[in-house]
Amino acid sequence: MKLDATLIRRYDCHGPRYTSYPTAVQFHPGFDEQSYRRVALLSNAGASRPLSIYVHVPFCAKPCFYCGCNKIITQNPVHAEQYLQRLEREIELQSALFAGRRTALQLHFGGGTPTYLTLGQLGALFEHLGRHFAIDRSEQREFSIEIDPRTLQATSLAELAKLGFNRLSLGVQDFDPRVQRAVNRIQSAEQIAECMTQARALGYRSVSFDLIYGLPLQTTESFGETLDTVVRMRPDRIAAYGYAHMPRLFKAQRAIRADQLPDADTRLQLLALTVERLTDAGYVYIGMDHFALPDDDLARAMRDGSLHRNFQGYSTHGDCDLIGLGVSAIGAVGNSYSQNRKDLSGYYAALDQGRLPVDRGIALSVDDVLRREVIQRLMCKGELCMREIENRYAVEFDNYFASELVALNGLAGDGLIARDANTIQVTERGRALLRTIAMVFDAYLPRSASTQFSKVI
Ligand code: SF4
Repeated sequence: MKLDATLIRRYDCHGPRYTSYPTAVQFHPGFDEQSYRRVALLSNAGASRPLSIYVHVPFCAKPCFYCGCNKIITQNPVHAEQYLQRLEREIELQSALFAGRRTALQLHFGGGTPTYLTLGQLGALFEHLGRHFAIDRSEQREFSIEIDPRTLQATSLAELAKLGFNRLSLGVQDFDPRVQRAVNRIQSAEQIAECMTQARALGYRSVSFDLIYGLPLQTTESFGETLDTVVRMRPDRIAAYGYAHMPRLFKAQRAIRADQLPDADTRLQLLALTVERLTDAGYVYIGMDHFALPDDDLARAMRDGSLHRNFQGYSTHGDCDLIGLGVSAIGAVGNSYSQNRKDLSGYYAALDQGRLPVDRGIALSVDDVLRREVIQRLMCKGELCMREIENRYAVEFDNYFASELVALNGLAGDGLIARDANTIQVTERGRALLRTIAMVFDAYLPRSASTQFSKVI
């Protein structure tokens, strides 16, 4: 698949990635612990949905200079012990809110570096989760963990598989040693290949690689070699993100030399190269930086219309309430989003007082829910049946979204969407500009400072 460079250049602006709608910029402190408790209890009513649990482990041994995550750089093991005590308390408080019969189908450990914890600590945490939540143990379960290959021991993947993890996500970024030095993340292709070999032998169902284009010293030649190496290793999923240089927001990025960053044209070439090389190698372009092999669950979900977008990007379980555990973790329960305290001291203080550490969030209005569905359908299914939305929400689509439909005319003229009386369809050209299409339906965007978001390229 080839990208249209002129078109992409024209639409290159700041915009949300829509891992939620409304985006986190709209979360506010008026949505507090009591608000969260109310929506959590309400979510148990009737035929309640299964659960998805996200656990945030914020610690990393060393900073990667490109990183914009909420993390704490430390090599002091006491920090992990103190954190785990609070995490266990949070698990107890959260589990008391959800009726015991609600099964957790999905479990994701992210960070930071989850494998910063020892295998013993991870095992104890898992056991605690299992005591307080009904965790699915069937073949259908999706237990994933983000892996830093630099911190793995020889037996780590085997031990993680014994705990029940069946999906891995590996931070690869770039194999070029010059780029790795410039971003302070040195890891060899051999280390990653060894992880892949072990993961396959242990029967992990899906292995995902994270790549980043737009890093210092990257060229199309060097990144092309990285892509070739990746394709040979054949991970099931690949997420290729554009590096967003925002040193004012992210302290670690101040160590990156701005004069070594690829210019806008090179970034575009790197993106085009990524899409072309991966699709030529048989990967399905899911959209928004994500690729998957045709027989991976993500590509299947795209085909059967069950693909969903959440805080981890694309996901296959859209019908879950998401519980976020840990400092800065985000949850999505009922028609609400909530985020925990981002600072460790505030997170600890709340739990030490027996309170949930909810810092802010948002209860969705009817308009938010409607627009969220429209955005989800465009980003995940690539099409929207306007009449279906009318029936579901008792609105007249053409009136309700009159100005949006006018704005879509421009996108239709550029071939990003195709439209008839009933349907809006994202075209293949439009798949590379999904967020541009979604932005048309974002009621908050004109009022938000758009530079709070990264650029399309
Ligand atoms: S990229 Fe990952 S490992 Fe590196 S500092 Fe950020 S969270 Fe830690």
